[in-house]
Amino acid sequence: MKQILILEPLLNTYYNSLFFKSREPHISTLRAITLLKKEFDVVFLDFKTDNVSKKSLHKEIINSKYLFINVKSYNLKLSTEIIAESIKLNKELIIFAFGQYAEYNPEFFFEKSSKIHVIIGELYEFAARFCYLQKENNNITFNSIEKSKSSMDMDQIPKIDLLEMKKRDYYTVYPLKTIKKYKWAFMNLSEGCPHNCVFCSQALRISHGKSIRNFSEKEAIDRIIRVLDSGFNAIRFIDDDFLANREFVQNLCKRLIRSNLDFRWMAQVRADKIDKTTIALMKKAGCEYLNFGIESASDSVLKILKKGETIKQMKNAAILCRKEKMLFVAYFMIGSPTETISDINNSINLSFELKPDMLQVCYFTSYEGSVFYLKNKKKISSSINQQKFHYFDICHNFSKVPNRILMKIWKRWYLWYYLNNILKIIRILILTYLFYPRRVFDLIKLCINIRKKK
Ligand code: SF4
Repeated sequence: MKQILILEPLLNTYYNSLFFKSREPHISTLRAITLLKKEFDVVFLDFKTDNVSKKSLHKEIINSKYLFINVKSYNLKLSTEIIAESIKLNKELIIFAFGQYAEYNPEFFFEKSSKIHVIIGELYEFAARFCYLQKENNNITFNSIEKSKSSMDMDQIPKIDLLEMKKRDYYTVYPLKTIKKYKWAFMNLSEGCPHNCVFCSQALRISHGKSIRNFSEKEAIDRIIRVLDSGFNAIRFIDDDFLANREFVQNLCKRLIRSNLDFRWMAQVRADKIDKTTIALMKKAGCEYLNFGIESASDSVLKILKKGETIKQMKNAAILCRKEKMLFVAYFMIGSPTETISDINNSINLSFELKPDMLQVCYFTSYEGSVFYLKNKKKISSSINQQKFHYFDICHNFSKVPNRILMKIWKRWYLWYYLNNILKIIRILILTYLFYPRRVFDLIKLCINIRKKK
């Protein structure tokens, strides 16, 4: 059987191992693996969780017929190195680059070798075609750009490879409020997002397309049961907009309540979709955490970001979470276009007013392929530092606040918030590390590395 090597490289910066960072799998990759395993030997290396030495990586490259690599702006340097090494080590190797950067700039890869192909669209859609072609013909030729459309019926899309998910310590940094060991599974029940946030790029989202597609309720419940039967007891739904179809979510929650399944879950939502009835049903069905982006306390900044939500809706969402005793994570952004110091101060005040159970502050980053990036390409690419291309670092600054001040605010905001909510941080630390010796070990390793760097 031919071997396929699938790589998920890490970020380029040391924030890779930032201990307060979730380690979440790429769902489309795990779906593709399910299909590919039927026809090939698949070796999957996820740099977030696997210890990948150069030697072991080279060995797998030499043994493989195909290499699939997820290339994003923030792992471009590392991915490019791996691709160059692969070309040298294995002259027969056929390489497929996919992911946010590959989709944005396919030519970048074609300059390197004619053996590189770029996949545009859902990876599992391409994997389905790839397996079919493989069965039909041994000498398949591929287009330099392989485009796949999200055309599969939702209930037909491949199931996630649970073996690959289970053997790794994937987790979210949003701990549940219970002293119990949780094994997190990650999945989505819908695909597509109809919104137009200017900083978001198609390939950065978990799925492609604007129109919302859901599993049927029965299929969704079956897939949840399959996950729970495999030994997971907590699920993070990573749909781009979990509440996009509220009716679906309400019916699903009613079914979950009736079926008495014992698991906790969390979901990624938009504040404008949170309403009294839905949140009450979600809570009753075992949902413990919601996360939503607030980004800014300034309606004018939100308008520029094309967020499509208002501060009033954000406040209302937080009030409803409190009423239902639903934990929530609020994401804020600083350094957004036109933002002033006073806008940022208002955002800080808003975070203290809403009191999220977890606060996350990022720098405004418009990735390659996002609407903002495409409009401001010239200004951005001249200032770009690919090493820093991540929202925990300032990559470019279109606000009215200098970088130096933004960095100070970023640190102080976290410090003020968590010192004022010291019990929250103690709870987060205890619950994130209590039952997980591997994470404690990783944390010690990270601290040693940071000291060495200094
Ligand atoms: S940021 Fe979220 S809501 Fe906005 S376009 Fe991207 S996935 Fe959709």
